[in-house]
Amino acid sequence: MMTGQRDEDRDVDVSLRPRVLREYVGQDKVKDNLNVYIKAALKRRDALDHILLYGPPGLGKTTLACIVAAEMGQNIRITSGPAIDRPGDLASILTNLNAGDILFIDEIHRLSRAVEEVLYPAMEDFALDIMIGKGPTARSMRLELPRFTLVGATTRAGQLSAPLRDRFGMTFRLELYAPEELAHILRRSASILDMPADDEGIIEIARRSRGTPRIANRMLKRVRDYAQVKADGRITRQVANEGLNLLDVDELGLDRVDRTVLLTMIDKFSGGPVGLDTLAASTGEDALTIEDVYEPFLLQLGFIHRTPRGRMATLAAYQHLNRAFPGDDGKPIPSQQVAFFDENP
Ligand code: ADP
Repeated sequence: MMTGQRDEDRDVDVSLRPRVLREYVGQDKVKDNLNVYIKAALKRRDALDHILLYGPPGLGKTTLACIVAAEMGQNIRITSGPAIDRPGDLASILTNLNAGDILFIDEIHRLSRAVEEVLYPAMEDFALDIMIGKGPTARSMRLELPRFTLVGATTRAGQLSAPLRDRFGMTFRLELYAPEELAHILRRSASILDMPADDEGIIEIARRSRGTPRIANRMLKRVRDYAQVKADGRITRQVANEGLNLLDVDELGLDRVDRTVLLTMIDKFSGGPVGLDTLAASTGEDALTIEDVYEPFLLQLGFIHRTPRGRMATLAAYQHLNRAFPGDDGKPIPSQQVAFFDENP
């Protein structure tokens, strides 16, 4: 059942992908740059330089790679770091590429050292060094590869080894989307999926999608389910609101994990500073997931800030979660006292 749902989500992901740069919403700086480089490469009839895309999951890195291929009029081959186990796997992918092809490697930071080493000469010289034979008679042979474009995606550029990072001609960081941009994406999705939706319903979902198109599209579908079962099928503001509450997504778009992270910081560590690993151990979430998936949005909301000694929860976070902010002495103010202050200014 869960897998079925995820498969369905993936199919919808693919059907909702914009195909050309013009349809890709937001990320204007990235689009402007790519537009220039694509036009220049087309004019020179040359392959595009290698591109590194980084940013939290669901922001449109795969989509952008497919668009680059479409705009260049080339084919794309999609794979991921964890899927390329051995150097031989990468060698076989590389030797099967045609001139101009785009090779997309998702989660490129997860390539093993040995595989990375095959990638260096491939990116730099379009060459593959292979060893023939073993022991003292072994010799290395260089195979020429077609000129291809590597598009690498990672959640954080800092996770990449320096030699790999240096071999990309362009590096772009994707930002979380503004609610208006998500609304734009959702209107398009609702129309493709033939869902009747009021604009206020769309805006409500956009506002609560943590700046992420994949989450926005997923919530749109869950709200449609709700609308079909509990209402007349139309996504209104009220239906969106109720549907999202049912998903445990609060008015700002925080989900259960966001709230657990914040409440752990506040209740167990007096607001911090608390180190990432400690936070991970106390919440039962993976440290990298907290850092890549949850933190960007909490930072954007201004609910946490990072200090050299760890993460701290801000006043805004305390207020949002109805917790009393610690007094100047660093101790939490007892709640009665807070009520007292509130009632008698
Ligand atoms: P990533 O590779 O960064 O995890 P994807 O490219 O798979 O993200 O994007 C997830 C989904 O979000 C896509 O299926 C697409 O429908 C939608 N999406 C992402 N970015 C955009 C965008 N800029 N405009 C419209 N839809 C987008």
